Amino acid sequence: METSTFNKLKQKAGNLLEPRLLQTGRVLDVRPWAPSTMIEIDLHLPFTNMEHWEQVPYIKFRVDPLTYRDYTPSGWDAETSTCTIFVDALHNGPGAKWARSLKVNDTVSYFKKICYTQHQPDQTSAIIALGDESSVGHLLALQKMVLPHTRFSGGIVMGNEDHRKQFHEFLWTPIEPVERRDVYGHHSLMQWVLKQKYSLENTIFYLTGNSTMVGQLRKLLKQQGYPSSQIKAQGFWS
Ligand SMILES: Cc1cc2nc3c(=O)[nH]c(=O)nc-3n(C[C@H](O)[C@H](O)[C@H](O)COP(=O)(O)OP(=O)(O)OC[C@H]3O[C@@H](n4cnc5c(N)ncnc54)[C@H](O)[C@@H]3O)c2cc1C
Repeated sequence: METSTFNKLKQKAGNLLEPRLLQTGRVLDVRPWAPSTMIEIDLHLPFTNMEHWEQVPYIKFRVDPLTYRDYTPSGWDAETSTCTIFVDALHNGPGAKWARSLKVNDTVSYFKKICYTQHQPDQTSAIIALGDESSVGHLLALQKMVLPHTRFSGGIVMGNEDHRKQFHEFLWTPIEPVERRDVYGHHSLMQWVLKQKYSLENTIFYLTGNSTMVGQLRKLLKQQGYPSSQIKAQGFWS
């Protein structure tokens, strides 16, 4: 089929389906970090209620015609119906391009149904969150669910030194930025984990980010003696 015919059909399908499935919100603020490949975006989503979430949620945004990507609200202010997402936008994909294009007062479209990951803090003495640049929102959302806060710690692998500094300065979190020394980040995070000298008992790991890192880190943790039941893995992209 010719590309133009295919695009017309896609457009038609979108016009039929999307009004039923999607609703709209507004961009309140866009704060690119320096360098601007990490983008912090405040959103007003007046038709959404995410109060009392029990697992870390994610929102499916329309980033192009009939193209959707998942991003994680780092928290939810029920009074103002607002949240912040953090988009890792170094690569070229429809989601990254969408995030780079957003300006204050733009309208965003997203699925009415909010989705949830399997990540819910267990009743254990140590919750350790490990992720990469695409997991900033997820790790912060998880942190907010852990009480008392002293049970929570973790590491986030980041390639850019300025981003590591800004993560530390901008965000109130015990999660430590970790220098990325391998492509996917699992070796860097594993070295960091080994230095922390976590106990084998009562320690539960929550892994998020690129799927290679998540899968390999899971393997490395198992080699260290942590059973599968103490490793909660959620791959984001590959
Ligand atoms: C539950 C869930 C929650 C998520 N939350 C977030 C979030 O809060 N923030 C966030 O940034 N992402 C998040 N993601 C990932 C996001 O949904 C997209 O998969 C990702 O941003 C890529 O979309 P894209 O259209 O930009 O690139 P794609 O079209 O999917 O990929 C284009 C190319 O870029 C590569 N690529 C994709 N993502 C990255 C990346 N981050 N870094 C380097 N290369 C990449 C791919 O391997 C591919 O080669 C989440 C995913 C899931 C499943």
